Amino acid sequence: MSLASVKRAESHLLLPTYERKPVLFTRGHGVYLYDSRGQRYLDFLSGIGVNALGYGHPAIKKVLSQQSEKLIHISNLFFHEYQAELAKRLTKISGLDRAFFCNSGTEAWEGALKLARAYAHARNHNGHKAKWRMLALDNSFHGRTFGALATTGQSKYRVPFAPLMPGVNFVTLNDIEDLKRQFDGSVCAICLETIQGEGGIRPVSPEFLQLARQLTETHDALLVVDEIQCGLGRTGRFFAYQHYGIQPDIVTVAKPLAAGLPLGAILTSNKVASCMHPGLHGTTFGGGPLSCAVAVEFLKQTEKLLSHISQSGGYFRQQLENLASKHGGQVRGRGLMLAWALDSADLAQAVVDRLLQRGILINRTNDTALRFLPPYIIEKKHIEQVTQELDRALDELSPSRQKGKSRIARSRT
Ligand code: PLP
Repeated sequence: MSLASVKRAESHLLLPTYERKPVLFTRGHGVYLYDSRGQRYLDFLSGIGVNALGYGHPAIKKVLSQQSEKLIHISNLFFHEYQAELAKRLTKISGLDRAFFCNSGTEAWEGALKLARAYAHARNHNGHKAKWRMLALDNSFHGRTFGALATTGQSKYRVPFAPLMPGVNFVTLNDIEDLKRQFDGSVCAICLETIQGEGGIRPVSPEFLQLARQLTETHDALLVVDEIQCGLGRTGRFFAYQHYGIQPDIVTVAKPLAAGLPLGAILTSNKVASCMHPGLHGTTFGGGPLSCAVAVEFLKQTEKLLSHISQSGGYFRQQLENLASKHGGQVRGRGLMLAWALDSADLAQAVVDRLLQRGILINRTNDTALRFLPPYIIEKKHIEQVTQELDRALDELSPSRQKGKSRIARSRT
């Protein structure tokens, strides 16, 4: 099948929800993807943070093939060997007590919101005053289902689907005064990403997160943290909140958890979990034996890579800072979750396209930010290749050079 024939077929067979780049990928190996013409691409996006161990990782392939011979799906009506084992590992690394498994990020977030409401509801029955408001952050992104949209602070995702779930108010990221102003006894949860992903790789400040934790304690509310993009090793620790010295009540993870298979999880404390009972929440597919067995292996492999992620992330950040001091813009993020925000959306798009032509995958988010979510296994030479190509692309595309070029062109005519 050629790229042209796939493109043609999709154009009248699929809902027009995606603007795909004109590449037909057919296989991957290590940090590289290969297209239908055999061209190789260095992947600095890893399927938006999913393929964190790269492609064809031997330990993952082994578990996949062994488990798929044994059992792929069984439903949550029965036990299998791997949910408890995976929950044991996730609770140990997160400092929480219990897990619930689902299929995607948005589903994990949706479940987390339900859990927060169910907890407040159970407390109300014990004589506490009504609490059902939720605070979320401007510029956030939590997914595409209704609860997730209701807590996503970007109108472009929300407006066509109104009315959304009521009771959500948005606080400006890192605005301490705004947070204090909006937090009162009617709030059951504050919901936030430790580092906003789609919102342009913007970390929450330590002061803001610590205050959020403090206010939840004062008002008997919950701190619900979305680590779907920034969690599971991406920042050099298993969870990004671990850089801040706070412990959330509910944490969501997904993306890389099962190394490319769909799997998400909600993690929480015994205190919060006590509001749940059989039938209150559930899923058909979530937490199947194949995805959970692979996820156990993913966590084992990631643990060995944490210091490599910190070191590579530090080196990459330094290289990006050097580029920013030459070409302008701002570098943000931590570990291997980094962005270089440029001055214009058009320039950022042109850079992404130019790198694609030269066999490097990155993307653009929040209009102007070049986003880098490379696999954890990248090496120094890969970082250097990407930064050299970025430098070259910016030299070629930057507005001053373009202006210079057109002046030369005009003077020749
Ligand atoms: N939360 C965050 C922080 C995300 O980055 C994403 C996806 O990009 C989601 C939630 C939604 O995850 P999914 O696309 O798996 O539903």
